[in-house]
Amino acid sequence: MSLAEPAPHAPVPPLSARAGTVGGSPVRDILAVTARPEVINFAGGLPAPELFDREGIGAAFREVLERTPDKALQYSTTEGEPALRAGLAARVTAQGLPTAADDLLITTGSQQALSLLATALLDPGDTVLVEDPCYLAALQVFGLAGARVLGVPGDEDGVDPAALAELVVRERPKLLYLVPTFQNPTGRTMPAARRAAVASVAARHGLWIVEDDPYGELRYEGERVPWIAAHPGAEDRVVLLGSFSKVMAPGIRLGWLRAPEHLRRACAVAKQAADLHSPTVNQLAAAGYLDVLDGHVDKVRSVYGERRDAMLAGLPAALPEGSVWNRPEGGMFLWARLPGSYDTTALLPKVVEQDVAYVPGAPFYAGTPDRSTLRLCFVTQTPDEITEGLRRLGRGLGG
Ligand code: PMP
Repeated sequence: MSLAEPAPHAPVPPLSARAGTVGGSPVRDILAVTARPEVINFAGGLPAPELFDREGIGAAFREVLERTPDKALQYSTTEGEPALRAGLAARVTAQGLPTAADDLLITTGSQQALSLLATALLDPGDTVLVEDPCYLAALQVFGLAGARVLGVPGDEDGVDPAALAELVVRERPKLLYLVPTFQNPTGRTMPAARRAAVASVAARHGLWIVEDDPYGELRYEGERVPWIAAHPGAEDRVVLLGSFSKVMAPGIRLGWLRAPEHLRRACAVAKQAADLHSPTVNQLAAAGYLDVLDGHVDKVRSVYGERRDAMLAGLPAALPEGSVWNRPEGGMFLWARLPGSYDTTALLPKVVEQDVAYVPGAPFYAGTPDRSTLRLCFVTQTPDEITEGLRRLGRGLGG
C-alpha cells in the first residue's frame, strides 16, 4: 500500500438493537431546558437540597473515615456491609415485615435493583406488566431488557385486580412492577384491600411482583398501608425495593432489595458483573446515620407536607376550568388532568416561556397516553415559590 493511499477505514459495528430502541429520559431532557435559575421547576423529582442533613451526614462520614478508614476505603462484599444490612433489616421488621439481614441485598440506588431484577428475571420477549402511567426509568430498564411492556388498566386506587388477573392469564407475564405508595408519577396510593387482591392474583396465577417503595416514609397524613410483600402468600414472589434517596440523600446512591434467596443470589451475581458492590464508605456512613434517620425524616415530612398544601391551595386558580387533580397523602408528586382539548406536551414550551415547568404525562404511559395529563413535583420549592410558580403556570396555560 502506498503512503499516499488512505488506510482502509471500515465502519464500526452498530450499537445493539436494544440500545437503539430505548431513548433517554424525557424528564432529564426537560431538566436540561429548564436549568435556567429563574425557572420554577416542578418537573424534576428532586429532594429539597436545603433539607439535606449536611451536619449529620458529614458526621457519619467523618466517623467511619476516622474510626475504620481501612475498612471504609476497601473493597467490600457484593451483598453489602453487614452493619447496613442489619440496620435496614431491623427497620423493615419494625415496619411490619419480619426481615433478616441476609434477606437484603444492598444496591447502588433502587434504580440498580430494577436493572438487577431485569437481568435476573427477564429474557428478551418476556412480558412485564406495569401501572399505566408508570415510573419512567422502570420503563427504560424493562425496554433495555428487551421485554414487552404492557400497562394494566386501573383507577385512582391503582391497578384493577380483575383486569390484572385477565392479563396474567392471557399474556403470561413474568412480573408486575408496582409503586403502591405515593406512586411516581401520580402520587396515588393503593389501599390495603386492593393490595390483598393483587397479592392474591400473584399467588393464584404465579407471578413475580416488584414492589418499589422509595416514598413510603414521606407520609403527611393518613395511616400507613402495609406492604404487598407482607401479605400472606407473598413471601416467595414479592420483591420489595427501598432507597435512601428520598429520606437521606440521592447522591449517596444507596438502595436495597428484599427477595427470596434464589432470586437474591441471581441479583448478587448480576451486581458483581455491574459494579462488584456499592461504595463501602457510603454504606458504612449510611449504617451510622440510621440512628438519626427517623428524626430527620420527621423534619422532612413536616416541611414537605406544607409544600404539598401550598400546591393544593394554588392549583384551583392555576389550572383551566374542568381540570382535576389528586390529593396525595405523601411522597413528592401530584398528577393533574386538564380538559381533553389540552395537550401538555405541546403546551410545555409556552409554559417554560413563563419560567415554570412540569413534566407532560404522555411519556409515563406504556399504553395509549392521556395527553392532557401532567406531573408536578411539590417538594423542591418553598411555599412562596410554589405559589408564584403556579401563578406563572396559570399564565402559561392561557389563564
Ligand atoms: N423507583 C422510583 C419509583 C423512583 O421514583 C425512583 C427515583 N426517582 C427510583 C426508583 C430510583 O431511585 P434511586 O435509584 O435514587 O434509589
